[in-house]
Amino acid sequence: DPIVVYAITPTYARPVQKAELTRISQTLALVPNIHWIVVEDSEEKTTIVKNLLNDLTYQYTHLVAKTPSIEKLKAQDPRWKKHRGVEQRNVALRWLRTNLVLNKDKGVVFFMDDDNTYSVKLFKEIEKVKRVGVWPVGLVGGYSVEAPELDPKTGKVVGFLSGWRSDRRFAIDMAGFGINLDLILSKPDVEFSYSAQKGFQESEFLVKFTTKEELEPLADNCTKVYVWHTRTEKPQIKKFVDGFEV
Ligand code: UDP
Ligand code: MN
Repeated sequence: DPIVVYAITPTYARPVQKAELTRISQTLALVPNIHWIVVEDSEEKTTIVKNLLNDLTYQYTHLVAKTPSIEKLKAQDPRWKKHRGVEQRNVALRWLRTNLVLNKDKGVVFFMDDDNTYSVKLFKEIEKVKRVGVWPVGLVGGYSVEAPELDPKTGKVVGFLSGWRSDRRFAIDMAGFGINLDLILSKPDVEFSYSAQKGFQESEFLVKFTTKEELEPLADNCTKVYVWHTRTEKPQIKKFVDGFEV
């Protein structure tokens, strides 16, 4: 059977939501063997997301998981102050562990935030992941690119080029790694956590599954950028116009 890429996308209601989801859903339409897991940060499935998913011609699963209000970023808070997407990614992990079977279902799990920009080429790399694969991410941590650093002799990952806390065990953005479904299923208790240090969510997750030495460098020995940690400007909307589903 072909390898399935399980892309997990947390998403929340705001004026740019449909634009973001349209962009990434159309990227995924170019990817064979994709299974998109969309998890809304809300109590119930919304019409906007339901309608968008209903149009797709590939596999998807629609879930909801509301971030507890105590963990939610306030409008004035700086972005680093709270973890984002924790609840949603965990519900998706639970879905995988409930619905898929170790040693039977074959796949790679990838955390695909709704605002980033993804090349179709990235998914060819994700398919190669045996345990944990890593690659560069553009426009993150104040650097034009963050990337795993390889030993030129062995080709193994020896460190991380990173704009922020490169001393993390894994100084890698959420968009910079893929993890085999077997690993996710064989360690059913590993989840993301609100008690992780701010900015350490990825590192504290990966530590439970692998070591730096075991990482598989992809994207042409981590020399190519196929994903960018873009952020969409918050539009200042003067008037919400009636009569359109936006
Ligand atoms: N997100 C969410 N609820 C929130 C804030 C963010 O579900 O209250 C989602 C968001 O749609 C994205 C992911 O969590 O897919 C990461 O959020 P964001 O892009 O804002 O984080 P950053 O890129 O700044 O780390
Ligand atoms: Mn983002």
